[in-house]
Amino acid sequence: MKYIFGNLGLKELESFCGDNTLLAFDFDGTLSKLTARPQNAQVSAGTEMLLHEISPLAFTAVISGRGIRDLKKLIPFRPNYLIGNHGIESPTISSKVVSAAKKTTSHWTKQILAELELGRGVQLEDKAFSLSLHYRLASKRTLKRNQLIKLAEQLSPAPRIVLGKYVVNLIPPGSPDKGVALLELMKHAKLDSAIYVGDDLTDEDVFSLSSPQILGVRVGKFQKSAAGYYIKTQTEINRLLSHILFFLKNH
Ligand SMILES: [Mg+2]
Repeated sequence: MKYIFGNLGLKELESFCGDNTLLAFDFDGTLSKLTARPQNAQVSAGTEMLLHEISPLAFTAVISGRGIRDLKKLIPFRPNYLIGNHGIESPTISSKVVSAAKKTTSHWTKQILAELELGRGVQLEDKAFSLSLHYRLASKRTLKRNQLIKLAEQLSPAPRIVLGKYVVNLIPPGSPDKGVALLELMKHAKLDSAIYVGDDLTDEDVFSLSSPQILGVRVGKFQKSAAGYYIKTQTEINRLLSHILFFLKNH
């Protein structure tokens, strides 16, 4: 992967900043800094200002693992599309898939509360269409992660387990991922290219589409990532947004 602020990266970024591009962002760790408690996540004033300037100039989307209801409270601008639960809550996903995900999630919550011991430092987040087990506050995190994976494997039906930064996400089988969600959005909005920025393993579902129509930018250099480009840290998001704004204005 290459640094987006090199000559090649900026040239490519510029070529994607046209009329037919969807600008899509993950939320936690991308538009907002990661926090010990997910409820404390916040978009900085600088990022907020840039997003306000960008949104009238392009189609925008936020694609997050959070539920939409939660996201709406945290996002200080109005993207064209707000996608929650790793792609399940989306205008392009059939109501049949959505209600199946809801049923499975509520079944899992009951199973966990009745039969399984999550242990100290673990926060169960019921996002209505998927579950997240946060273990950032646990004392032995690697051990805790492995315990939670084992525990999740006992659930029925078996979840798709997606690991994130101090979180084990349990996704109902048959649900779309962020990659599917992005492709469907592009089709829905009749846009032929997209820029996608994300920081975590669920974002690899977009990066690994390896489509020449999608410019993938990862927050943090990570050799195993399928993203073509990276920014060094979340604090560089404003620099990235400033470039995008400049290119959109001068397009
Ligand atoms: Mg993230």
